[in-house]
Amino acid sequence: MKIEPFDIRASSLFRHSGFDIHHSTAVPIAPVFREGLAPFRKALRHWYRRHARSLPWRHSVDPYRIWISEIMLQQTTVTAVVPYFERFIERFSTVHLLAAAPEQDVLRLWEGLGYYSRARNIHRAARVVVDRHGGTFPESVEALQELPGVGRYTAGAIASFAFDRPAPIVEANTLRLYCRLLGFRGDPRTAAGQRLLWSFAEQIVPHRSPGQFNQALMELGATRCTPDAPDCPRCPVRRWCGACALNLQRQIPQAARRPAITEVTEVAVAIERDGRYLLRKRAPGERWAGLWDFVRFPVDQGDNPRRSRLEQRVADETGLGVDVGELLTQLRHGVTRYRITLRCHIARWRTGKPDSSRGEFRWVADQGLGELPLSVTGRKIAKLLESHDGKASKTVRIEPRAKKKRGRRNRETPPPGV
Ligand code: SF4
Repeated sequence: MKIEPFDIRASSLFRHSGFDIHHSTAVPIAPVFREGLAPFRKALRHWYRRHARSLPWRHSVDPYRIWISEIMLQQTTVTAVVPYFERFIERFSTVHLLAAAPEQDVLRLWEGLGYYSRARNIHRAARVVVDRHGGTFPESVEALQELPGVGRYTAGAIASFAFDRPAPIVEANTLRLYCRLLGFRGDPRTAAGQRLLWSFAEQIVPHRSPGQFNQALMELGATRCTPDAPDCPRCPVRRWCGACALNLQRQIPQAARRPAITEVTEVAVAIERDGRYLLRKRAPGERWAGLWDFVRFPVDQGDNPRRSRLEQRVADETGLGVDVGELLTQLRHGVTRYRITLRCHIARWRTGKPDSSRGEFRWVADQGLGELPLSVTGRKIAKLLESHDGKASKTVRIEPRAKKKRGRRNRETPPPGV
């Protein structure tokens, strides 16, 4: 749906936006359109040239680097991404090197960043770029969106940042900024809200240096127009801001409903045989697919099963007879809406071979654990095993690296199957 450039009331979306156009304090015409877009764009660009952060992916217009950074930044903070990005680019400096690498190497470099479907998609997309496009990234939004894991926002970012195409962008930071500029009080996550915001983004993106303009919008959203403390006095586009005119900065955008947290209890068992530990590769469709893990299974919430029950569960999962020993540690961690208490035991192998019909298993020596991609909790257990001396257990809390914190969240939501 097209929004009339100077009177946002013309949009039926606007009428359903929750914005009261009859209210005396309402801003009936989106202020950013009132005097034409040129002054708004000029003010934004001027601010960006003076205040843009120096980030490693901004030093180049290489679509490969831009693409890697944009995928890493999905649901993840800039601070967390920088070291991962630098290590990744050092190891896979070109799309050809990435395409030729084993998936395990890619996942090992991604380890700890979370949302591992992103790494699997990056790897698949690199192969598509090499096989279908000869290693050269396509320039159009449509062709970019055909790559695995590349949605409308990421395609627009690559097209505008790398190829200077006037492609619109809407991600977490610009979504918030647009809602405030428009004074939009409806829900921006509905289909109608999304159409409104994408339409707005299409209209404001210029043909001259659209990449720099889009980056400036994102930077403003990330550093000035923050979720909880927008710095309006120092905002370069304050005079065009509908929310500021209404003093509704803190009410706009409408907050997303947070999913209810579910408490879960799981058990991980490090089964040892002759100095090696049994690992299982997480299967496609499972949480952490492609990563290796100690034998792990859920138990009733809050349950602390007896050893005989744990031994039976291990037999069910692996086909092995084991003697479950002491509690090595207890970890607390979060995966999406689940808060997991993980009880970690050591066990000694007694009988049998791992049953390959129940998964892909491998016996791995201490030193080999460092070469395989593990989940954050798997890595924590591996480190404890290295230094384990049979002393009393302890409880360790692991904070998720890719914290979903309102306002620090960025870019598109990655596909499910974290
Ligand atoms: S004036 Fe305040 S609310 Fe409006 S865009 Fe700037 S920082 Fe955001």
